[in-house]
Amino acid sequence: MKRAERTVSDSKLVPGLEIRSLFPFFTEGPAGCYLDSAATTQKPAVVLDTLRNVLVHHNANVHRGAYRLSAEASELYDQARTKIARMIGAKSERSIVFVRGATEAINLVAHSSEQLFRPGDTILLTLLEHHSNIVPWQLLAKRRGLSVAFTDITDDGQIDLNDFREKLKTLKPKMVAVTQLANSLGTVTPIAELVSLAKASGAQVLVDGAQGVTHLGVNVESLGCDYYVFSGHKVYGPTGIGVLYGRAERLEALEPFQGGGDMISYVSTEGSGWAEVPQRFEAGTPAFPEAIALGAAVDFLARFDRDDILAHEAALVSEAYEMLSEEEGVTLYGPGAHSGKQLAVVSFSIDSVHPHDFATIADTHNIQVRAGNHCAMPTLRRLGVQATVRLSFGLYSCSADLSAVRSAIREARKLFK
Ligand code: PLP
Repeated sequence: MKRAERTVSDSKLVPGLEIRSLFPFFTEGPAGCYLDSAATTQKPAVVLDTLRNVLVHHNANVHRGAYRLSAEASELYDQARTKIARMIGAKSERSIVFVRGATEAINLVAHSSEQLFRPGDTILLTLLEHHSNIVPWQLLAKRRGLSVAFTDITDDGQIDLNDFREKLKTLKPKMVAVTQLANSLGTVTPIAELVSLAKASGAQVLVDGAQGVTHLGVNVESLGCDYYVFSGHKVYGPTGIGVLYGRAERLEALEPFQGGGDMISYVSTEGSGWAEVPQRFEAGTPAFPEAIALGAAVDFLARFDRDDILAHEAALVSEAYEMLSEEEGVTLYGPGAHSGKQLAVVSFSIDSVHPHDFATIADTHNIQVRAGNHCAMPTLRRLGVQATVRLSFGLYSCSADLSAVRSAIREARKLFK
């Protein structure tokens, strides 16, 4: 891994404008006011270099070839698994299954745990979930005759803890699936409390860490969840790679998700036996260059202090709130900057300007914002709104991005007066 190692020194980094030089998007690419990091993050050079380095110098299929190149690629792939296990505090790399992303990870659990459910069982979600943490459970419910229930949220987009407690007591769900950080509003959920209440009620718990892992970090062992999922591309890594963490005994009890090469111990014309976990869930050739590049993203992220990341993204939320509440006709959604329960995301609407129109106007100024329902239709419906504009921040976001948004709001309001 010569080339990638050369591009990164071991010094500590601080989030903000200065680190844009480490992201080719800003130095060679469109260099926009990129405010859509909740959808996907920009990639540091070290991740891009690693991807190229693997494909140029170590490209051979993993866990197959008896030759040196394949052994090297396999070793790098296994190292990436170890890095990820360490980042999320998993006891063993055997708990780390490589998948395509958070969506695939949730689908995997919903498929492979099917035999644990009996008709009439309940799966408890919340009204803050991304569609990826709703639809796979609805599909499972349809196949097995289960019910899907939702914990309510408050008007400011926080989980209603009384409702959660009540639903645990009355519905006795077999599975609780809940987000750590809502992509639509930026709500930071009280995840430790939710997991502990759900576990005490006897449920298994899946935590959607697609946003949480990037902005908050996690220690899955102390959190005590059964499953934790995230996508590489939202944590400064490549697309096409993601992670399912499962407690060892949970993964052992799951049926395979897909069948194919690499997930078997034997195949005969009469039947097949399964490989040990995690290989049991990694049928076919894995996205090993992407997994290795995700390992590079993990190393990159480790060069920041978690407290600096939290402070940076909380400060941007505060600044955005201050700025947006001064603008006429702007309505903000979510817990609010002063609650301490909102991070990295700000959702709002502008009187007389449709969010899509605003996003189009912003785009003419090279500002990228998301407009719509953010794959969270039940959340927005509960708040009585069909679409919002969403600003979402990353390590490289800065105050200048917010000033650009303010100018675009003023222009849009003039145009749509
Ligand atoms: N969960 C949350 C909270 C998300 O924000 C997203 C993506 O926006 C997902 C799940 C799905 O992630 P992916 O599309 O990478 O599978």
